[in-house]
Formats: sequence, C-alpha cells, structure tokens
Amino acid sequence: MPEQKLPTRAEDYSEWYNQVVLRAELADYAPVRGCMIVRPYGWALWENITAALDRRFKATGHVNAAFPLLIPRSFIEKEKSHVAGFSPELAVVTHGGGEELEEPLVIRPTSETIIGHAYAKWIQSYRDLPVLINLWNSVVRWELRTKLFLRTLEFYWQEGHTAHATAEEGEAETRQMLDIYADFAVRDGAVPVIAGRKSLSERFAGADQTYSIEAMMGDGKALQSGTSHNLGQNFAKAFDIRYLDRNGALQYCWTTSWGLSTRFVGALIMVHGDDQGLIMPPRLAPYQLVIVPIFRNDDEKAAVLANAQKVRAELVDAGIRVKMDDRDGMSPGFKFNDWEMRGVPLRLELGPKDVAKASVVLARRDRPGREGKSFVPQAGIAGAVAEKLEEIQKSLFDRALEFRKANTTEPRDYEEFKQAVEKGFALAWWCGGGVCEEKIKEETKATMRCIPLDQPGGSEKCVYCGQPAEEKGIFARAY
Ligand SMILES: [Zn+2]
Repeated sequence: MPEQKLPTRAEDYSEWYNQVVLRAELADYAPVRGCMIVRPYGWALWENITAALDRRFKATGHVNAAFPLLIPRSFIEKEKSHVAGFSPELAVVTHGGGEELEEPLVIRPTSETIIGHAYAKWIQSYRDLPVLINLWNSVVRWELRTKLFLRTLEFYWQEGHTAHATAEEGEAETRQMLDIYADFAVRDGAVPVIAGRKSLSERFAGADQTYSIEAMMGDGKALQSGTSHNLGQNFAKAFDIRYLDRNGALQYCWTTSWGLSTRFVGALIMVHGDDQGLIMPPRLAPYQLVIVPIFRNDDEKAAVLANAQKVRAELVDAGIRVKMDDRDGMSPGFKFNDWEMRGVPLRLELGPKDVAKASVVLARRDRPGREGKSFVPQAGIAGAVAEKLEEIQKSLFDRALEFRKANTTEPRDYEEFKQAVEKGFALAWWCGGGVCEEKIKEETKATMRCIPLDQPGGSEKCVYCGQPAEEKGIFARAY
C-alpha cells in the first residue's frame, strides 16, 4: 500500500484517476504498452457488469456464442467504410508455425465481418430469422494514446450481432439494445445517461445509424458508455447474407451490432469517485459491505470475531456480498481508509461494546463522518443493510444527476457555448451540418456527443452558423 495521499481531483484529475485504478487494485499496466492487466477486484466489478447485462440480453431472446480471435484480412476489406474506419487500428498476424502466412490474419477489432461470413451460411429462409447472438470476448485496436479501462489496445466487452427480415425489425432491435444499456447504466451503475443518435462523422464504420448513451464524468467531460448500430444492409450485401421470404423471393437481411466494454468501469470510477477514492454503486460493487472487527486484546478478539462471523453469515445468507477484514497487524483506522479508497459502499464496525449491546455501527462510504454513521441492532441486520444499500444506490444516482444538470448549459450564442464546454455539456441547437461540427471541434475541442432522442421540438438557429436548426445536440469534450 503506498502511503502517499491521493492527488485531489481538483489538483490533477487525470493522475487522480490513474492512482485510484492502481491503488484500488482494479488494474495494472502490462509489459506491452497500452495493454492492461485486470486484477481480481477489477474483474469482480466487470463480472457484476456482465451478469447485469447478460440477464437483460437473455430476457430479450439473445443467446451467447464464441467466434475466433483471428480473421482473414480479406474479410475486413469487404465492407468499404468498415475497412477505412478500422485499418489504422489493426493488429496483423503475418507468421504462424514459423512460416509466413499466405494470407495475413487480423486480430479482431470487432466481429461484424466474421459474423457476416457465418450468417451467410446459416441463414437461408425467413424461418431462420431473427438471429440474435451475443459474444463476450476481447478485441484489439492499436490505439496510440491509452489509459487504463478508458482506452487500451485490448479491451473486454460484449458484442451483439443480429440479423432480421425487415428494416423496421433491425431498427427496433437497435433501439431496444440502446434502451437496455440505458436501463443498466441508470439502475445498476447509478450513472445518468443521455441516449441519442450519433452524427455522421461519429458513426460506426459501416453503420447506417449509430446510437449511444453518453455520461458526464466528474470533470465535466463526456464518456460514450455504450453503442448500438443499425447496419442496414451494408454487411448483408458485403457478405451475401440473404434469405428467401414468404413469397420465395431472395432478400438481403438487415443487421445490427451493439457493444458495451470495460470503458464502463472508467465511467463508474469517474462518475462516483471522490478525493478519498472509489465509490462503488451497491448493485455492482464486488463487496457491498466490509466488516471491520475492533479489539485491543486476545479476549476481546475472540468475542468480537465470533460475533462478527455470526453477523457475516446472516448477511451472506441474505445474498449480500460481504468482505470480512480480519487482517492481523493493521489498525482499524488503516482498514477504514483502505476500504474507503476501494469504494466499498458500507462499512460495518464491530467492537466489544457493540457485542455487549448486540448492535453494530454502519458507516456509509458516500457520506463521510458522523452524518453517514448509524447504530443498528444485530436483530434483523440483513434487512437494515439491504435498505441502506438501496439508499446509497439511489443517492449516488441523484448526486450524479444533480452534477450533470449543474454542469449542462443551453447556450443562446456561440460565446456562451464556448464557456459551457469549458466546464461541461452544451445542449445546443445544431443545423446538422458537418462543417459546423468540424469548426466547433477545431475551435473548442468539443465534439458532437449525440443528438438526444428526447427533443424539445420546434426550430431555432444553429449555435454556430445561424442557419435553421431542427434539433439540439450535446456537445462536450470527451474521453
Ligand atoms: Zn450550423
């Protein structure tokens, strides 16, 4: 454990983030630049994310499968805009078994192409549709500027790939998955998100339409936290994915893809964390509660530990994820700080006096000091803890939403716009033109995050060019 204090977020947000990731043991740097080692505490968080999503995918009829890591390079070249978008980031395998390969292979940057190849074989008739497959895997994109969880050469994610008979079904699937991501982010991550459509320049390479959920981080920047793409018939045409319709006519399928990655861990860190470290939302926290036994001598130790084990068993039986910190040779104060830094939502303190009174002290991570402490009887402890965890979950969401509101401006002119993106989001009228978008990016470093699905209606002037604008867009500096 490094003894130095964390830098505060105000001092150096980026360094605060790096230090939190390393000290909380979420991840570590790898020997290959830009790769990351996800440590058990970080992986436990990711497992809870995957479980929450997987449950939703299966409830909407999706099934999981596994596809190969290696893809023939020619596959990537079949869809024109796909290859243009991905070739700068490809890792290419030229040798295998000691020999140069006849055709180089790429390590998947995403699996649309190999999925297209398989779907062309598997889909013959309208009876085969829809195909609703999800993959849990990792992909490689040769990023130049990397940061743990936010942008790494290899990252973990899920990628869903579906094929449908009609354009309407494809669009409905794309929107359904966007809704699922938003529901997950809000309910499990306590992360408020804005769901919207991407501009042409931010669209996925090979998609007709890309939707995303965007969240505001603790420094006011945006993080794209999940995307859902309507691929139209682009990949179906490139890979010849066709089916015989009810009238015996050959039709191209309509396909979609959608993904959420380990970037979301970065979102959780930056949305909820404070100057003491992480704050985990209870529904995703690897440990929802840590028990810290307090004693001064062996007699006290025996009584306190026995009681603590009993309390622990009761909580575990109720399905609460509990860590018992009975490490020797460390003071309770040290343990408090350690688990605070690692963001465990609730701490349960138990000393000789608590044993005598058959009570415990509960301390909330999101409310430091006395305000967050309460004395709770051991009888019915599981119910009391579950209730507290729900309160914390809700209050983290409320706090994040307040913060986003306080740092979102609806600028009346470009001057106000420039100030707005210095500190947070600008929700501004935009003509939809790529030129305005590009100029705004050049001049302010803010990009068009999304055009929220939720629109006020009406028409105003574009914040940049003054031409008529029908929609408002979220502009922000982004990770
Ligand atoms: Zn404009």
